[in-house]
Amino acid sequence: MTLDFLEKLNNEYDKYFESVLTQKRFTHSYVKQLINDSKIQNNFSVKLLGRSIENREIYSIEFGVGESTVLLWSQMHGDEPTATMALFDIFNFLLADDEFNEIRNQIKKNLKLIFVPMLNPDGAERITRQNAVGIDLNRDAKRLQSPESKILLNLVEEYQPVFGFNLHDQDFRWSVGNTNQLAAISLLAPVYDYEKSIDSSRLNAIKLVAQLRRSFEKYLPNKIARYKDDYEPRSFGDLIAGKNISTILIESGRDINDYNKFFYRKINFMMLLFSFTEIINNSYSEINITEYFEIPTNGNFMVDLILRNVTYETQSEKALIDIAINREEVYKENSRIPFFKSYIMDIGDLSVFYGIEEFDCTGFEFDLGLISDEELKSVSNLKESDLKKYHEKGILFLRTNQQTELNDLRMPINLITNQNDSALEFNLNKPTNFVLKKNNEIKKIVLNGWLCDPDDLSKVKNGLVF
Ligand SMILES: [Zn+2]
Repeated sequence: MTLDFLEKLNNEYDKYFESVLTQKRFTHSYVKQLINDSKIQNNFSVKLLGRSIENREIYSIEFGVGESTVLLWSQMHGDEPTATMALFDIFNFLLADDEFNEIRNQIKKNLKLIFVPMLNPDGAERITRQNAVGIDLNRDAKRLQSPESKILLNLVEEYQPVFGFNLHDQDFRWSVGNTNQLAAISLLAPVYDYEKSIDSSRLNAIKLVAQLRRSFEKYLPNKIARYKDDYEPRSFGDLIAGKNISTILIESGRDINDYNKFFYRKINFMMLLFSFTEIINNSYSEINITEYFEIPTNGNFMVDLILRNVTYETQSEKALIDIAINREEVYKENSRIPFFKSYIMDIGDLSVFYGIEEFDCTGFEFDLGLISDEELKSVSNLKESDLKKYHEKGILFLRTNQQTELNDLRMPINLITNQNDSALEFNLNKPTNFVLKKNNEIKKIVLNGWLCDPDDLSKVKNGLVF
C-alpha cells in the first residue's frame, strides 16, 4: 500500500509544486508572502515564533489535531534551501482536495505537524550558512546566543515532539561510500553521546531511516548514504536526539546539473509525506537495525573535473600530470543567480581522487590560452559565431574597457579589463583556462573549468572577468 502511495506521489508531484519558488536563492520576503497568503492563513495555524537578528519573522505552521507531534525545521543554514521549497510543496499537498484525501485525513487526525520553514532568514538573505553576525546556528545549540537558536529550542521544549526532522543541504560532492557515485540524499539518526548509544527514541529514528532508504532505492538507486555520525554536542540534531525525540537528519545533495535542486526538492517532498504515513502506521518498526548500519556512509569528497595524463612541458622535460578542477557558485552584488568560478584544486598524481567528470588526456599537450590583441568596444554584442572563432584559435581572453557592461554578463569567454596578463597563470587555486593540443592542433579547451570542444559553447555557463 505504502509503495503505491510513493509511486502516486511521484506521478502527481507537479500539481503541488509551489510555483512562487522557482530558483533556490529566494529570500525571506518570498517565504513571508507565501505564509501570509490566505491559502495558508485559512488552512493552517500560523504562529509568529519570533524574529531574527535583523528583525525578520520566523513562523511555525501547524497542521493536524493528532496526539503525535512531529516537528520539522529547514534552512537553519541560510544557504541550504532545498527542504524549504519542499515544505511549501507539502503545504500545497495538505490543502488540496483530491484522490489523496484519505491520507490527508489520516495525517490530520493522527499527527500534529509543526513546520518551521527557513529558521535562518538573515543567512538566506546573504546566501551564507551562518546568521547575520556569523554564528553557525548548528554550533549554538548549547550556548544559545542567537535568537534563531532560542526559537528552535523553545519550540522543542514546548511541544516535546515524538519525531524531529532536521532538514539541510550538504555539499553535493560527497560520494556514497567508497564509490564514484554522488550521494543524492544522506540520512542520519543523530547520536546523543560519544558512545553512540541507542535508546528507544533513537532506535525508532534508526528504523525509520532504514525504511526510507529501502523505499527510496527505486528513485535514487545506490545514491542514498548515511551521514557521518560523530557526536557534536553543539549541534541541534544531537541535542534534540538526547531529549527522547526520534530525530532524523536529511541532507540533500545536488543532481549534477540541477542547479535549482528541483529533483531533490521533490524527493524531500516524497520522503517527508512518506515518513508521516510510516509514523502513523508504525510500519517501519518491523525493520532490522542492521539495515541502517549497512547504508554506506558519505565516503569521498569528489572533484568536479579530473583531467588525467596531461602532457605538461616544463623548462627541460615533459611530465605527465593529472589536473583536478572545481567550480564554485558565487554571487555578485544584487544577483541571486549563481556565477561559477573555477579553480585548480590539485595537480600531479591524482589517482586516489574521483572526478564527477573525468577525461583521459593521454596524448594531449597542455598549453596556455591566448589573449586577443584587439580591444573590444562592446562585449555584449558578441555573437556565438564570433566566440566560436576565438575558441578555435585558442583565444580564451578578450580585452575590453567597457566595465559597466560586465556586472551581469554571462558569456563563454573571459574578459580582461586592464593590462595585467596574470589571467594566463596556471597554478593551484587559480582559475582554470587553458587549451589541450594534439600535434599542435587545438582539440579541447578548458574555459573557467569546463572542458569542451572548441566549437561547442553550450557547456560553459560563464567566463570570468579579470
Ligand atoms: Zn546544514
